[in-house]
Amino acid sequence: MKVLLHEMSWTEAKEYFKKNDIAILPVGSNEQHGPHNPLGTDHLIAKAIAEETARRTGVLCLQVVPFGVSSHHKQFWGTIFISPKAFKNYVKEVCLSLSYYGVRKIVIVNGHGGNRCALLEMARELREEGVFVSTFQWWEAASKLLPGCFKPEEEGHAAAGETSVNLALHPQIVNMDRAVDEEPSKHAVEAKGVSLPLGTVDETSSGVFGKSTAASAEKGKMVLEAVIGELVKHVNTLRKVKNEDFAQKPKV
Ligand SMILES: [Zn+2]
Repeated sequence: MKVLLHEMSWTEAKEYFKKNDIAILPVGSNEQHGPHNPLGTDHLIAKAIAEETARRTGVLCLQVVPFGVSSHHKQFWGTIFISPKAFKNYVKEVCLSLSYYGVRKIVIVNGHGGNRCALLEMARELREEGVFVSTFQWWEAASKLLPGCFKPEEEGHAAAGETSVNLALHPQIVNMDRAVDEEPSKHAVEAKGVSLPLGTVDETSSGVFGKSTAASAEKGKMVLEAVIGELVKHVNTLRKVKNEDFAQKPKV
């Protein structure tokens, strides 16, 4: 059975949508991940997790949206940066296309932290229109499911966590000879409870936040198995929930 939308014909898609009201949409970014990881890290990982979940559940999976909200990385060459507004509207219109064919539940597999605010804002708007969108962040699931697998300094951007998953999925495009460890520098005005509009370049010169050299394909495989298992459970739960249960609640 086909589970990837772009491999189906329109008649096959019609058969799926007539029987199902759920779909999976991977989104990511194309941005620097240190001197050793591919720029596509975030969207390649999201795509792999989403497609494997689709195969294990029989739920339809769309193509990955490869570009995300990444202007904070733009000083590093090759980063493609989309505004939060444009990203939100683009993903929303993808979701609304699905809604036209009867989809009421969408699981977004998000590979990039910078996309979160835009996705949550979009999900709130879509709930008003009868579409329930949940967003899955694999790295958050991994740190809860496998506590201690990575030390705190190995969980940062482009550090051992992400690098390990890259090594498990596509080692041929990771160059471990160039992997570095870099402790992010503290900005002069940093304080507890204060958020600053910093770019990556303000904190690291390599683009790595923490330790990347501790990465291994074995750890990456463990992470993938754990997070895909969790996502499969979530998708199977969501597909059983009635749409009425997701409707906006009336005023109290
Ligand atoms: Zn990343």
